[in-house]
Amino acid sequence: MNEHGSINEVLHSIRSHERILVTSHLRPDGDAVGSMLALGFLLRAMGKSPQLVLADPVPVLYRTLPGANTIRGCADLDPHFDTAIVLECDSVERTGISALASYPIINIDHHASAKLFGAVNWIDPSASAVAEMVYHLAIAAGVDVTPDMATCLYTAVLTDTGSFSYEAVSARTFQLAGELVSKGASPGRIAERIYFSNPESKIRLLGSALATLKIDNGIATLFVTKDDMHSAQATDADCEGVVNYAIGIKDVRVAFFLREIDGGLYRISMRSKGGLNVAAVAENFGGGGHRNARGCTVAGPLHEAVSTLVHKVRPLL
Ligand code: 5GP
Ligand code: MN
Repeated sequence: MNEHGSINEVLHSIRSHERILVTSHLRPDGDAVGSMLALGFLLRAMGKSPQLVLADPVPVLYRTLPGANTIRGCADLDPHFDTAIVLECDSVERTGISALASYPIINIDHHASAKLFGAVNWIDPSASAVAEMVYHLAIAAGVDVTPDMATCLYTAVLTDTGSFSYEAVSARTFQLAGELVSKGASPGRIAERIYFSNPESKIRLLGSALATLKIDNGIATLFVTKDDMHSAQATDADCEGVVNYAIGIKDVRVAFFLREIDGGLYRISMRSKGGLNVAAVAENFGGGGHRNARGCTVAGPLHEAVSTLVHKVRPLL
């Protein structure tokens, strides 16, 4: 998906609605949560009354972000709203909130796999995080970026760029980070919260995943079963970032992390480096993502899921 739609269409649509729901994807990450919260502050500054809803819980790491306690679950969703702003999703299904299907949707996304499923669609794959788009929306709306908004947006950019390390990072990203810091985001305090406050369960789960690591001709695989999750008392959110340890190994060009979920299925996190486009490689697996990071769900058993994935990428290495 190339760039599509504009900030002005989004602003126009926001201005013509009062009650606005804001949401993002299942298993929300830092960009989903941080961008939703910042957008919530922005909409309130525009005189709107937004409700922030996520189908899955806010991961522990992001619960101390300003306003995080205003995000509700589906059970508390108030059906009296006029439009829904959906961040970072390629469909209503990806939000996990089926009730949205009958409302006009403002779709804001920066994924290569973005789709035009909204009534208004603003897509910018050159944005390092959807937070970058929310920041520009605030500027275009003439809303002051407060320290709380800056904190949420900086957290989103930091986590969605792998701490400013992915290829999508440009001078623009650092310029944005600089502006957010000058508006009150504290890099030290945010890093403390994101990188030095892990729940013990996350590190125990990482240990069991690393014990399964296999490397074969540039392809790394590692996995956790439901039993491993249980033993580590881990949550879904504890799996975020495990795959990065595998792609971080010298000469590994593709990494797959598999996590057993219900129904004999496995959630896959894929990462690539060295110019290999994992989004294109894995198009027929469903899911979505970026050039170097993609996620999807495949059927088990485990060894078959692994061999399907490996067979698909091997010819490309
Ligand atoms: P992760 O491996 O961290 O779960 O996801 C990597 C990237 O792929 C993220 O940008 C994430 O939003 C996207 N992604 C992961 N799973 C899915 C999925 O099931 N559907 C879509 N559309 N995108 C996904
Ligand atoms: Mn993102």
